[in-house]
Amino acid sequence: MKKRLVVIGNGMAGGRAVEEILARGGADLFEITMFGDEPYGNYNRIMLSHVLSGEESDADIFLNDLPWYQDNNITLHAGVRVDRIDKFSRHVFAADGRVVQYDYLIIATGSRSFLPPMDGIYTPSGTVRHGVFTFRTMDDTRRMIQCAQHGLQHDQQGKVVVIGGGLLGLEAARGLQAHGLDVAVVHSGSHLMSAQMGPDGGAILRRSIEALGIAVHTGSRTTAILGSDRITGVALRDQPNLDCDMVVVTAGIRPNVDVAVVSGLAVERGIVVDDHLRVMDEEEIFAVGECVQHRGEVYGLVAPLWEQAAVLADHVTGVDRSSIYLGSRTATKLKVAGVDVASMGLHGPERDSDEHIVFSEPSRGVYKSIVIRDNKMVGATLLGDSRKVAYLTQAFDQGRPLPQERLSLMFDLGSPGEEESVAELADSAQVCNCNGVSKGALVSAVHGGCTSVSAAMDATRAGKGCGSCKLMVTQVVEWASGGAVEEDPAATYYVPGIPLDKASLMAEIRARGLRSVSEVFAALAPGSAEDAKSKMGLASLMKMMLAGDYVDERDARFINDRVHANIQRDGTFSVIPQMKGGVTSVQQLRRIADVAEKHKIPLIKLTGGQRIDLLGVPKEELPQVWADLDMPSGYAYGKSFRTVKTCVGKDYCRFGTGDSTGLGIGLESRFQGIEAPAKLKLAVSGCPRNCAESLVKDVGVVAVEGGRWEIYIGGAAGAHIRKGDLLATVDTSEEVTLLTGRFMQYYRENANWLERTYAFVPRVGIEHIRSVILDDSEGIAARLDASMQTSVDSYVDPWSERDDPLTPGQFRTSLPLTVLPQVPVR
Ligand SMILES: Cc1cc2nc3c(=O)[nH]c(=O)nc-3n(C[C@H](O)[C@H](O)[C@H](O)COP(=O)(O)OP(=O)(O)OC[C@H]3O[C@@H](n4cnc5c(N)ncnc54)[C@H](O)[C@@H]3O)c2cc1C
Ligand code: SF4
Repeated sequence: MKKRLVVIGNGMAGGRAVEEILARGGADLFEITMFGDEPYGNYNRIMLSHVLSGEESDADIFLNDLPWYQDNNITLHAGVRVDRIDKFSRHVFAADGRVVQYDYLIIATGSRSFLPPMDGIYTPSGTVRHGVFTFRTMDDTRRMIQCAQHGLQHDQQGKVVVIGGGLLGLEAARGLQAHGLDVAVVHSGSHLMSAQMGPDGGAILRRSIEALGIAVHTGSRTTAILGSDRITGVALRDQPNLDCDMVVVTAGIRPNVDVAVVSGLAVERGIVVDDHLRVMDEEEIFAVGECVQHRGEVYGLVAPLWEQAAVLADHVTGVDRSSIYLGSRTATKLKVAGVDVASMGLHGPERDSDEHIVFSEPSRGVYKSIVIRDNKMVGATLLGDSRKVAYLTQAFDQGRPLPQERLSLMFDLGSPGEEESVAELADSAQVCNCNGVSKGALVSAVHGGCTSVSAAMDATRAGKGCGSCKLMVTQVVEWASGGAVEEDPAATYYVPGIPLDKASLMAEIRARGLRSVSEVFAALAPGSAEDAKSKMGLASLMKMMLAGDYVDERDARFINDRVHANIQRDGTFSVIPQMKGGVTSVQQLRRIADVAEKHKIPLIKLTGGQRIDLLGVPKEELPQVWADLDMPSGYAYGKSFRTVKTCVGKDYCRFGTGDSTGLGIGLESRFQGIEAPAKLKLAVSGCPRNCAESLVKDVGVVAVEGGRWEIYIGGAAGAHIRKGDLLATVDTSEEVTLLTGRFMQYYRENANWLERTYAFVPRVGIEHIRSVILDDSEGIAARLDASMQTSVDSYVDPWSERDDPLTPGQFRTSLPLTVLPQVPVR
């Protein structure tokens, strides 16, 4: 029988420990349950700095999203905090009342932000005051962005004070500056990043930061946050007050040890573990990550947790009981665009015999310092010129002997040869510290077919953290591929796992008569290897190409497409009954109300697309909800044609010149469920007043004088805003329908996977699209129309699967998700 493995904490260490356990056959050994008090899967916390600055979206930083847990049979209680462990009866007690028994327990609760004492930081009820932020979680980041973008009212100053001038503070400062805020950093140390560098480097860093327009106050302690209703500034000891409306505290972290303390485990600065990552005096309890104290050290970076997770997994699975963790050497890099800072180990000599090599060029913002002991590098600081950082990081990590000519450590003098140094690296040498990727993993990726840098980076996640290892990653890929790195062909692949652009992929599928996603992998993927990230794109493409001849395989679909509903942040689904053109009837409304009452739907919401959204439906109840509704699917979930928003139009509106509602219903009926590279949202307005917002839709239609219609394409009003381009002005609604279908088919055949029309139309060019769609310049218009017709004819209402699930688990609750406190029931 499988043992029960419970993990408390679903952050970077908890996630990695479980990945390592699975890699050692853990799925056969354990029933795994994870608790994480954040309501998400596991994400790369490092990248929050990039999310704050807008370089990445939060969706891009997930290491394991919610379906990953389901796919690996892991029960995840996301958004559930564990309060207590009973180590004698081996149970954990969660805040939601859940009690789970374990045979093995892993604690990976990480750290929390430290709030130094100062007046005015808490409300009288003890919560942190509105306008004061910490920078630790995705929610913290989202709140800061929201405040920076919307929260600061016109009468406010648009000023923020960041308390703490370490790595995190500088990254927060730069991120908030990107939102147009006026930023000041207050640091109690004598110079910025005082934990990572000496005063000389700190002085040069200060100039570089000030040159970005960020004010710096060093040697300053914040004593109070000022203002009564809202924040107006901060008070500093011995210095004038600073005005601001927002305060971000990045003054250090403290390990999250509460659960260990109340449960009677050994805790000092962190949870005390031995070299096996076993909690002191406990047999079955392990701990990993920032909550851990090992040989007196507590770490605040990711590199140690990769090493710890591997050792822990060796022991829990019994794969290698001799495996030991002896501590980590840490290196950091500041993730602030335009300011290169890398630091590792010591920032100055500690013994008389230590060699200290320093190069300083303040006018260019360049400073380099290297500390050498017994011919090994024990520390380095690089500012303003990070060309040697990859080489130095390796020299530091490996403790390798250094060249006699010390200058070559700082500058490229032709020695030591980079290629030689890459070849010399052991396979186990970690190249990417942020994501824990070794040289061996990169080499295997190259041998597995990744011959470009970005393909190898995608396959291994190397280089996707702070980015300081990109040079080394390039060198390893070059070396492993035996010469020059290929131009990145992957950039043109339609899906990452099949090395073909879209046109060639479609031609191969046709020529070989392939009909399912697995057939495509078998025939066209390197080594016939299936690639999970490619499945959705392939499934969509093949359905578009083959319509009724496509052989559907459920594992090729994203969860939304598997169960025909939109997964929500708490793991429940939303159900949107079809209401073509946004028109409904008394009978429909009554039925929806009855179903909502019967199934105790927690939230009924009108969507931005004029539909009724029933939110909070558990997966296993979907078929019954659909059966009770007895209405077709309203398509709110897939990469497909969704809805047509309409205005009232000429029947009722005084201004209307066209029957927008009728045309909208016609379009929605015709194109329902059509698959596309990305979602398609349409609208029809009855006159140029545009009440249906047609100009910002993928296809928008506007009635104009004389009973004519204008067709706009490539508009957007979501994350991107774009006014659509005028495709044509036509006389009849039939022409609108024909050209809409022809454009949609052209887009389906030529757009990249997940490329919305707002990117596709400008990429291909409106002139070219007009020539193809209107003038038939490529002689394909008739074929486009026919292909669209075939797709239209093969439409089947997906909700008809309610009576006959395609797989036994299709509607079984498998995502172990409970309704989370974050989803309010209004
Ligand atoms: C903005 C930012 C930038 C960073 N940049 C870098 C960088 O460039 N390089 C670098 O090496 N490191 C960086 N770090 C640090 C790095 O993110 C951490 O070292 C790493 O996340 C630690 O992993 P962990 O799993 O120990 O803790 P965490 O990732 O914090 O995970 C712990 C999880 O446990 C949960 N939890 C806590 N208590 C409980 C409980 N009782 N029950 C259930 N769940 C619980 C927490 O909510 C959290 O989700 C950065 C951190 C931040 C915030
Ligand atoms: S777009 Fe014109 S026709 Fe439609 S509701 Fe608005 S004003 Fe009336």
